[in-house]
Amino acid sequence: MNLKPVALAAAAVICTLSLTAQAQTQGQTPAEQISYIHAGALLVHAGEKPRKAATIVIHGDKIDSIHEGFLNPPSGVRFIDLSKQFVMPGLIDMHVHILHDGDKMRSPEEHSSRTSADYVLLGLANARRTLEAGFTTIRDVGSEIRSVTALRDAINKGLVEGPTIYTSGRVIAVTAGHGAGNADAAEHVCDGADDCRRAVRTQIALGADLIKFAATGGVTSDAATGLTQQMFADEMRAIVETAHMFGRKVAAHAHGKQGIKAALEAGVDSIEHGIYTDAETNLLFKRTGAWLVPTLCVPDSVLAQARAGARSPVVLAKVEEAAAVHAKNAAAAIRDGVKVAFGTDAGVREHGKNADEFNHLLKAGMSSADAIRAATIDAATLLGKADRIATIEKGKDADIIAVAASPIADISELERVEFVMRRGVVHKMQGTRQVFPQ
Ligand SMILES: [Zn+2]
Repeated sequence: MNLKPVALAAAAVICTLSLTAQAQTQGQTPAEQISYIHAGALLVHAGEKPRKAATIVIHGDKIDSIHEGFLNPPSGVRFIDLSKQFVMPGLIDMHVHILHDGDKMRSPEEHSSRTSADYVLLGLANARRTLEAGFTTIRDVGSEIRSVTALRDAINKGLVEGPTIYTSGRVIAVTAGHGAGNADAAEHVCDGADDCRRAVRTQIALGADLIKFAATGGVTSDAATGLTQQMFADEMRAIVETAHMFGRKVAAHAHGKQGIKAALEAGVDSIEHGIYTDAETNLLFKRTGAWLVPTLCVPDSVLAQARAGARSPVVLAKVEEAAAVHAKNAAAAIRDGVKVAFGTDAGVREHGKNADEFNHLLKAGMSSADAIRAATIDAATLLGKADRIATIEKGKDADIIAVAASPIADISELERVEFVMRRGVVHKMQGTRQVFPQ
């Protein structure tokens, strides 16, 4: 006669009882808020060699411990079986416009008639698609501040589904410059250093986590200045100093070389797009420690939109030129050792297809391991959140994804994310088995 099952069952009951008792007496995590994940392979930290079979123990929204092999989950805890999958930290996209859907080629009238309520609901749908694609954190670099902070805060409260959002609010821009829009005296538009300090403080007062400004013209704006510098050096310095004084990092939209140089000299933390980088700017990147967020997947999308007639002829001409040189210059920047963080410009292109950028980074000469770093720990470092996210370690947010096979061997696996957990809450489950306690 085999007594083992009885003994195991009894042990399980005792275990549950003792966990509950501990939770009551010592203020520890109740069993129902504990998850055990069996990971077939586990990438703890991008850039390191993945581990074989491992168990991740999650308490509430945080990772509590990692163990070699498959630990039996105690009774009463949630068990998630990813024992046939490759498990890794959630992905981070550093360049998103979460409230926007530029890829939909809507008429200008439809855009201008939108209210903040429209934007919040659009952002909500975009946020869910982004999270389901495996991106558990995004940096939003240009959205109406009241709407995007409402969305950010609702996600953080668990009211709605989406990635963790860090937002710049509106792009600080000069009158008639890229990002200024048509509005008179809008809060994010500034002229002169003092006025730019005011614009930065206004976005911070309204809840911005970081600051973004437009140093040069943009591909999608119609201004005749093309992609060259639009903001004076003293205005850029005023923006950077004010933001840093308030503990905010600064991202600069910059295409033309003089604009990139001026922004780097002003002390920005990242250059967005950076189409016309060269050997000189690349040296400056390394000297200042700034990051490049190249958003290599966006020119193709805008080119397709422009050729379909959804963008003006001026935009079509600009983007044709830009698309040709962007990939070449980004490859040179990577060769020169410029730090690169992953970003897509989702919002100008489709949301939920963020992983398309990986292929572009590989074409530009990055290894798959480095591209995964760019979308995890490196992105978190630029965000200033490397102590909280982007690796599978004790005390970090339980932001965890799984794919069917190693993305280090085949990066396209990241286009087919099967499992998504953000802060301990499961948002997507394919090909996995989850056993909830009875
Ligand atoms: Zn953008």
